[in-house]
This record gives sequence, structure tokens and C-alpha cells, in this order.
Amino acid sequence: MTQPPVIQLSGVARTYDMGGGNVVQALRGIDLTIRAGEFVAIVGPSGSGKTTLMYLLGCLDQPDGGSYRLCGEEIAHLDDLALSRIRNRRIGYVFQQYNLLAEIDVVDNIALGLVYAGEPPAQRRETGVRLATRLGLEHRLDHTPRELSGGQMQRVAIARGLACGPQIILADEPTGNLDSKTGAEIMSVLRDLHAQGSTVVLVTHDPTIASQAHRVVRIVDGSIVSDEVGQGSGVGGRGSAGEETAGQGTGVGGQWQVPHPPDAGGSTHASDPRPLDGGGQGPDAAQATGDSAGAPRRAFAESPAPGPSGIGWRDLLRIALSEGILAHKLRSFLTMLGIVFGVAAVIAMTAITEGGKRRQLEQIRQIGLNNVQVRSVDLEGARLLRERRVNPAGLTTDDLAAVREHVPGIAAATAWKGIKAEIRRGDKVYDRANTLGVHGDFQQVVNFHVGSGRFLDQRDDQRRARVCVLGGAVAEGLGLGAADAIGATIVVGDEPFTVVGVMGGKQFGESDIADAAITDRNRDVYLPYASLRAYFRKALRESPLDAISLRMDSDARLLTQSQEIRRIVADLHDGAEDFVVAVPLESLKQAQRTKEVFNVIIVVIAAISLVVGGIGIMNIMLATVTERTREIGIRRAIGASRRDILRQFLAESLLISSFGGLIGLALGIGGGLLVQLGFAFPVAFSGWIMLLATGTSMGVGVVFGIYPAWLAAQMNPVDALRN
Ligand code: ADP
Ligand code: MG
Repeated sequence: MTQPPVIQLSGVARTYDMGGGNVVQALRGIDLTIRAGEFVAIVGPSGSGKTTLMYLLGCLDQPDGGSYRLCGEEIAHLDDLALSRIRNRRIGYVFQQYNLLAEIDVVDNIALGLVYAGEPPAQRRETGVRLATRLGLEHRLDHTPRELSGGQMQRVAIARGLACGPQIILADEPTGNLDSKTGAEIMSVLRDLHAQGSTVVLVTHDPTIASQAHRVVRIVDGSIVSDEVGQGSGVGGRGSAGEETAGQGTGVGGQWQVPHPPDAGGSTHASDPRPLDGGGQGPDAAQATGDSAGAPRRAFAESPAPGPSGIGWRDLLRIALSEGILAHKLRSFLTMLGIVFGVAAVIAMTAITEGGKRRQLEQIRQIGLNNVQVRSVDLEGARLLRERRVNPAGLTTDDLAAVREHVPGIAAATAWKGIKAEIRRGDKVYDRANTLGVHGDFQQVVNFHVGSGRFLDQRDDQRRARVCVLGGAVAEGLGLGAADAIGATIVVGDEPFTVVGVMGGKQFGESDIADAAITDRNRDVYLPYASLRAYFRKALRESPLDAISLRMDSDARLLTQSQEIRRIVADLHDGAEDFVVAVPLESLKQAQRTKEVFNVIIVVIAAISLVVGGIGIMNIMLATVTERTREIGIRRAIGASRRDILRQFLAESLLISSFGGLIGLALGIGGGLLVQLGFAFPVAFSGWIMLLATGTSMGVGVVFGIYPAWLAAQMNPVDALRN
């Protein structure tokens, strides 16, 4: 009976354009039909086109002319995905040079095709171990190809070809790199596969090997010159010589008719204790051995790998990590640095500036967001004389009264005059105090309240009482605790005062003060303004007041209100330039706007560093793709589609940039915290900046990884393999 054809070539040609009009005709009009279950040897001198033909049969390459029908399907009509699926499931390809992946072990090499068939890892491993065991590799499961002999590597390669249960085994000089004994072992494996129903096409230039096939096709210079029944067919009835091609029967075939070596004919080898079809090794083996002429069936009754086709994302990440990044740790790490610095810089710097902003805002909130201050300008020498000629009075409580009268929306007002005076109590001296005579609602406007005792009131002022309230640092400096401070007598300059209150806890430390022009109120000593005027006359000569501070109802009109206040005070001072009007909130906003520029600079630096990082990734990925050309060819031959290859390299660049982003994130947070701890400077991390920076870095990996990955995917499998 005649089996259906699995391979039908008619008029197939393949030319290689070497450029410059130099064209190599590797195949010239090949007509060849191979039926299911045949065992065909293709022979011919080196350079005759055998490998070219095998690549075409294996769907690794496409003919320039003629037609190739595989199981009745015209190959030229199929797209990359369909061709990849055929390579993956219908064809098991065995190379002369084994072409194993060096980084992974025997089981993973065998199961490589199952990765692209979308099989789950557990099943892949099971199949890998089973096939390894069948081929006598059970003691080498976790060895990498480097640790194997040539014969063992070729067994792995055959097992890999079988993993997806192909109908056709294509072996291109599988024994070419092996000694004759090992070659005989490999041949026995192939014969067993054939016996179990596989269609086997084998290229060889060894007559001994060819003689074991059932049919020998001889190619010379790209054309078939003979097609004959081989010795291996035993009874000799099954070959299809002369049926498919016009038998050129030149009798050349005869020279391959060499008797079998004695041990090659049997199914058992001294060095191979586990023959493939060795009686009753398993149900499928037992079933498969019986009838070699039967319908084509899967060599080891492997499952046809139904699952979703294409590589899964877990495998993508695993391959990218173990075979890409970890295989070149230092290189990958250096590549990440651009991304790392970019992300770390953005996160740390924005956290620091944001922290500074928030602290300033907090300070302003403490002294009152809605404040407007009229401050006396410190004048000296000729300037003082000139301004005092215009306005002899300086800044006075009359100014305050006029402002209160004419500007609406003032919630509270205070004014003060500071003097330098030594503070003493007994033998204790505190010389860093600011002594202030205060007028009006000081506590409310300055938002600084008495902690124990009471604050100064209007009656103290009217009576010019010798009473005072101490800032916390002053009380401490004089050795006064909360209990014994009230009622104590202290000396300010030369004047005795009785303590009636101590201010509450620290408002803010000295380091906070620079930006917002805030003084450290903990060193203040407060006296009634009238008392200061009465007992420290000399000090009042320059200007009766240092500052008037007003708290407004709201911050909505601070600027117009401050302009109004300026106009009123300027009127009263007859145009003397001896005062300024300040709005702390406005100066804060101004300062923050300045810092906005700083933020832009950070973003620009980060963007540059990300782009540089991206270019680094692209550079390294291009190198990686070039280095791994052969690997790409192998993966394609085993069934990876262009898409699978694209994804594999994209996953690698994405992983590099993501690791870079995450390291940068950690470094940025670490740096920010270090600044916070080391300089007692508050930092404020922003979740969305972190997300944005890390996300952008991942995007960089994809954007800059696309081109190298695309190049890898575009590679012609044959070119990649010949590399
Ligand atoms: P064989 O396997 O029989 O030794 P090949 O199929 O490898 O022969 O090569 C057949 C012919 O095609 C040779 O002349 C070889 O030089 C040429 N050839 C093979 N591959 C290429 C290629 N990629 N570019 C150009 N010429 C090639
Ligand atoms: Mg070859």
C-alpha cells in the first residue's frame, strides 16, 4: 500500500545572491516526494546543496521558485506564525553541530520547543526528563552542553527534535562530527524512530550510514542525479525510486551498498543500555515498535502540545533574567546606571525641594498666613539724618492707629520695639536675649502663646508696670523652671522686672529661620511697650517701633491691602523711606517660584540621564542580539516565531530598565532619608513622582529596546544559523 505524501517538492530552486551579479544556484529544480513513514538518505558531495534542501524542508528557508507542499499545504502561502508552528510541532530538526543552547541544562534544552508550544513548566520538565531517559541521558539531566560528549549532545538534540511529537525528523549530517561508533549509536536511534512510525530524512556523505536508509537520493550540484531503494529497506519492496523522479539510475547508488556493521543492525548497544524500542519500556514504546510501515504516528506518542501557542510571559522573564541579564551581570548593571541615576536624582531632589517648601509653609502658617508687616528700616549715619529730617518720628503707634482706621479687614494688630540688653538673675547672665516692648494683640498676631503664667495686658501698659514674660530659652538660661519662674525678679539692663509668664514650647529651631526672615522667639523677653518707653528712653531714639504686624481676615487681598498700608504710612511719613511693607506669604511664594526653576532643571537632568540610559540599553541590546545570533537561529528552528523573538529581547531591555528604575527608586528614597537624618532637613516623598519616574524608566526600556528586538526578530533563521 502507498502512504500519503508528506513532502512534495516540484521544481524547487534556491539561489544565493552574493552581490555584484554573483549568484550561486544552490538548488536547481528539485522534484522530490517523500511519503509518510519513509527513511530517506540524501547524499552528495560537499557544496551540492544538501543543507540548503534540508533548510527548505524544515521551513527554515523559502524556495525562490517551484512549490513545496507539506502534508498537502503550500508553504509559500503561510505566514511566519504558521511556519513557526510547523517547525515547532511537525518537524524535528537535528543539526550536524548539535546547536544546543549553552546556558541551559539537558532537560531545558530538550524541552525548548515546548516553551514555544505554550506548555506549562511542569509538563515540559516531565517530557524533558522522559526523553532524556529514553535516550540514555538520565545521568546528565542537569548538565549543560559544555559538560557533554558529542554523542550525548547529539542525543539531546534528537530528544529536543522529538519533544513536540513531530511527524518528520530532518537530520543534517547528524553523525558528521562524531566518531564511527558514536555515529552508529545515533543512527540506531534514528532507525528506531523510523521503526516507530516517524518519517526520517537524513543527510550524510558516509556511505555506511546511507546504506541503512530505505531510499537514497543523490544530489550533485543542486540537482537530483539518482533516487534509489537503499539497503536498509531490507525486503526492498517499499522504496519509491523511479516513482517520483525520472530515475537517473546511473548506478551511482551502488557504491553506498556497504554491509551493516554488525552492531548497528541490532536495537541494543553495549554503550546504550536503554534502546529506544527496547521491548516493553512503556505502553507507547510497545505499541510503537510493532509495525514500521503503519500510518505515520508520533514517535513517542507525545501530546501534540495543544495549549496556547507562543511563549508565555513567565518564560520571557525567566529567559531575559537568567540567559540575558544574569549571564552578563556587570554589563547589565553598568547599562542600568543611567536609568538608576536619573530616577534616583528625580526622587531625591524633588523630595528635598518639596520638603523645604512644606517646612516654609508650615513656618508661615505658624506666624500667621495672613500677616502684613510694616518694618522700620535700619538706617545709619547720613541716611538716618536725611530721613529723620523728613520724618522725625520714625515708625510709631500713630502709624498703627491710622492703618487700623483706614484699612478694612484687619483682624488683629500688634507692634514692637526691640532693644539689646543683658538679662540677669542673681549671678546668672543671659546675653543673647531680644528684649521687646510689645503693644496690642501680640500673641494672636504672631501666633505664639504663653505657656505658664499670663501674657502682658493693657493694664500693664497703662501702668507702665515692671513686669515681663520670658521666652523658653531665656527662662532656661536664667535657671528658671516652670514652677519658680512666675514671680521671680530679673534685671533687664539695669532695670528690675517681675516675671509674670513664660512662653510656650519652642516654635522652631534656628536653622529654620533663614528663608522666611523669622526670628527665634524663644530668646525673646517681652515687656509692656509703655514700660520700655519709660525705662529705656535712649534706645528709642532711632525709631519708636521696629515693626507693626497685622493679621488680616483672609489671604485673599494681601497684596492690595499691603499696598494700601504702604500708601497710608508713606503719607504719614511725608515720603520718608524709613519703612518697608512685607507680606511673608508673598515672599514665600516668590521663593517657591524660584525653586520651581530648580525643579525644571532637575527634570531636564533626569530626562537627559534617562535618554542616555536608554541609549546605553539600546547599545547593549544591539551587541546582545549580534552575539546571540546563533541562539536566535536555534530558537527559530525549534519553533519560535518572530513575535516570540521580539518579545524575548524586549523583555530583556524592559527588565534592565525596570531593575534600573527600581534600584533608582531605592537609591532616591535612601538618599532623601539620608538628607533628612544627616541634615535634619525634612523631605517629602511624592508617590506620583516615584510612580512617574519608575514608570518612565520602564518606558525607556521598551522604547529603546524595540529596535534591537525588531532586528533580532527580522533575522532570517537560516542566516542566523549559518552565522
Ligand atoms: P552542502 O550542505 O551540500 O554541503 P550547502 O547547501 O550548504 O551544501 O551549499 C550549497 C551551495 O550554496 C554551496 O555552493 C554554498 O557555497 C552555497 N551557499 C550556501 N549557503 C549560502 C549562503 N548563505 N550564501 C551564499 N551561498 C551559500
Ligand atoms: Mg551541509
